[in-house]
Amino acid sequence: MIRHRSATKISNLISLFGESVPSDVYHSCAYYENPEADMDKKGWLGADLVFDIDADHIPTSCDKIHDEWTCGKCLFSGKGVTPETCPVCGGLKFKAKSWPCERCVDSARDETVKLLDILEKDFGFSSKHVHVFFSGHRGYHVHVEDEAVKPLDAMARREIVDYVYGSGLLGFEERVGEKRKKGSERAFSLHDFGWNKRIKLGMQNFLLSATREDLRSVGIKQNVEAILQNKETIAKRYIEENRWSNVKGVGTETWLKIARHVKELESAKIDTVVTTDIHRLIRMNGTLHGKTGLKKIEFPVGRLSDFDPFREAVAFKEGTVKVVVSSAPEFRIGESMFGPYKNQTVELPTAAAVLLILKGRAEVVEE
Ligand SMILES: [Zn+2]
Ligand SMILES: [Zn+2]
Repeated sequence: MIRHRSATKISNLISLFGESVPSDVYHSCAYYENPEADMDKKGWLGADLVFDIDADHIPTSCDKIHDEWTCGKCLFSGKGVTPETCPVCGGLKFKAKSWPCERCVDSARDETVKLLDILEKDFGFSSKHVHVFFSGHRGYHVHVEDEAVKPLDAMARREIVDYVYGSGLLGFEERVGEKRKKGSERAFSLHDFGWNKRIKLGMQNFLLSATREDLRSVGIKQNVEAILQNKETIAKRYIEENRWSNVKGVGTETWLKIARHVKELESAKIDTVVTTDIHRLIRMNGTLHGKTGLKKIEFPVGRLSDFDPFREAVAFKEGTVKVVVSSAPEFRIGESMFGPYKNQTVELPTAAAVLLILKGRAEVVEE
């Protein structure tokens, strides 16, 4: 790791890369008086607010198909999420192989959509200060470059993380409890801003489309039939008239169960450590990710739904490479599908071969 370097001109930066040919390039999110000085002498001037949304933090149904781990001690291996201890020898160190799967990257995108909504609607950041990037691997980065965020310390950034996760909403549950004791009719009144609005609309959507199983899955066991039969009325009463306690057989506990479920759905699953770190290093836009050969690449916020990382972040567009593949799931680069492979020698377009090699799943066949 080469650190504490700076460049004031692009040409200097490029010759810096030429000196060491790094596999990965990062820059600080912080601004310093003396970027090349030791950490304690740099003179911290502020930092951008950064978010990392990575499939590693989001449970998906497909990790069993494409993620593998091997115990470093006894070499026992398995699929899916890496265990804490090896089931055979109790070892604690593993070699994990993850995969930049499209479904996993899409789930990271869904979390990014929620984050951007919160940043723009609740915090009021202008879209010209919010930058969205594909990370080059299994997720997205969001950088807020606004003078208002630069001086924020780690505690203030922690508050933002909590808000994005909806963590402070516990207070909201306590408030419900207090009002209930006093017998208030408006025990569950929600206003029309921020998380209140998000929960209100989310509960309405949940109710209107709820099946018997949906209600059971959030823990509602009583009055299920009554709720299903009257869901339009219930949704209208609480959303339009705020008459929470007036629905027969549906108490505050029921509302809380739905509210907790909605909170889980609406909160954005960001990497909390990245956002609270005021000295964070983050991958440089336009450089290659050392685990995929794909580029970290910026795109307009409005393109999030149609941005295609497996086409638009591809760096190597020419030639082919002959590789022997140990194992790989089916994957796509551009318009072409590849794999699945198991102990096979294949000639692949460079981008596909680079991905497999960097993922430790293939080696070049020397001819
Ligand atoms: Zn083991
Ligand atoms: Zn997946």
